[in-house]
Amino acid sequence: MKIVILLGAPGSGKGTIAKRLSEGYSGFRHMSSGDLLRDAVKLRTAAGIAAEDYMRRGELVPDELVARMVSDLMTEAGGAGTLLLDGFPRTVAQAGMLDGAVAACGAALEAVVLLEVPEEVLVGRISGRRVCPACGAGFHVVTIPPKDAGFCDACGAGLVTRKDDDPATVENRLAVYRAQTLPLVDFYAARGLLRRVDGAKDADAVTDELRLLLA
Ligand code: AMP
Repeated sequence: MKIVILLGAPGSGKGTIAKRLSEGYSGFRHMSSGDLLRDAVKLRTAAGIAAEDYMRRGELVPDELVARMVSDLMTEAGGAGTLLLDGFPRTVAQAGMLDGAVAACGAALEAVVLLEVPEEVLVGRISGRRVCPACGAGFHVVTIPPKDAGFCDACGAGLVTRKDDDPATVENRLAVYRAQTLPLVDFYAARGLLRRVDGAKDADAVTDELRLLLA
């Protein structure tokens, strides 16, 4: 099992690209820490209840909650292929936790892909983002519009805006990214693992580029 970290600001396309690779090509699996946490909130687990307020404010949840995800990761990390980590690690401390988990399950950290996107593009992408509360499918009012405006193509439920996609929270999430996650760029560059990709291109082009890069 190879582990590939997708690094990038909110709205850089980590989830979209990981989903396209895992659904379109065999050998890729997708693990989104944000999705795991949102599921935990929906299911009202202890971790979900503890994480909810941090997520609503656009802050990172404490590392002890993330430790739970690391153990999920170790279960996921068995088998062959490439596991795409979307949203984890987000701090240098979490990168240390990941190193421990990767070593414990005999996997290998193959690459860290940084999706680079100018901030004005990020804000435009996030403000148009819509999600299906029933099945989790993602849309964008301009770039990935649903066939029937406002309704999910897959299951027909009414689409919603994620609570943490409102403009004030987005500002906070970008500030948190700059302060806490951006240091990972130098951290992984120093280990020779960083690959920079232009994430402002359309999703098909970025998906193709990643597929070749990770082949
Ligand atoms: P995302 O869907 O990746 O943008 O994550 C949504 C929210 O979940 C973030 O704004 C954080 O509050 C929380 N979250 C996701 N991944 C992590 C992580 N690795 N560490 C701490 N908080 C996280």
